[in-house]
Amino acid sequence: MYPYLFQKLFLLLPLAYQPPINEDGSLPNADWNFVQNGADWEGTCATGLRQTPIKLSVDSSLIVPLPRIFFGNYDERLNSPLTLINKGYTVEMAIPATSNGRKPFITGGLLKGQYVADGVHFHWGSPVSRGAEHLIDRTRHDVEMHIVHRNVRYMNIAEAVNHDDGIAVLGIMFKIVKNPDRVYPGLKKIFTALPNVVEYHSEAELLESLTLGQLLGDLNTREFYTYKGSLTTPGCNEAVIWTVFVRPLPIPFSDIHKLWHLQDSNGNPIRNNYRELQPRNNRPVFYRTNKGMSDF
Ligand SMILES: [Zn+2]
Repeated sequence: MYPYLFQKLFLLLPLAYQPPINEDGSLPNADWNFVQNGADWEGTCATGLRQTPIKLSVDSSLIVPLPRIFFGNYDERLNSPLTLINKGYTVEMAIPATSNGRKPFITGGLLKGQYVADGVHFHWGSPVSRGAEHLIDRTRHDVEMHIVHRNVRYMNIAEAVNHDDGIAVLGIMFKIVKNPDRVYPGLKKIFTALPNVVEYHSEAELLESLTLGQLLGDLNTREFYTYKGSLTTPGCNEAVIWTVFVRPLPIPFSDIHKLWHLQDSNGNPIRNNYRELQPRNNRPVFYRTNKGMSDF
């Protein structure tokens, strides 16, 4: 742990950074911001017994032979335009239909029925802290990407968040590497456009299209944790079935740098935009492994 941290700090030392958000103690003008890692907006969040994020570990999970996640239309090219939006607390890309006129969707795992993809966004840390939301085996990874899906039973996200089976989110972890040995074309297209959405509410179109599957790269999608939780931004509705993949993808240092420079509504860099850990309240967490099991 320490050698890695040291290596990371060493890597960062030569670079000068702006101070963390709201270091002077001033309150943000936006409705809510991540002033203290999500600790400041309980008042606007629903409270209950199935909040997110939580710690995940094999030892505290039920190892069950769940079906793997099936990815529908994840290999179909998404229609243009693909637009990145700086939301002030994250950067988001809405997911349009694919070239075959359908939406990408997922099923399998704990999911009953189909969930269509709605949007992608990211949670990250700072030059001196990691920013994933879920902890996996006591490790907080550098970045967590969320692909948000809506149960096809419901008309839109606004309706889906009012149902306990309304939303399915895939959580994908990233780990900073100095010299990546792989490039993921889909992720590269998104990160290349980040400098065009530095300012709050700015938007930028991606120059080239991509498939949603390209955001997963060579991720091992057969190994995951899954449990019932909530959104991690207000109103934190308890409507989400979470599927969090275990293995992190590498993220080049030059790309995470672009996330750290995005700005909130006050012109401060968006940093540590993850919510603090929530009580598990004896909820079952299921762990699917591909070790020693036949392929379901
Ligand atoms: Zn999220």
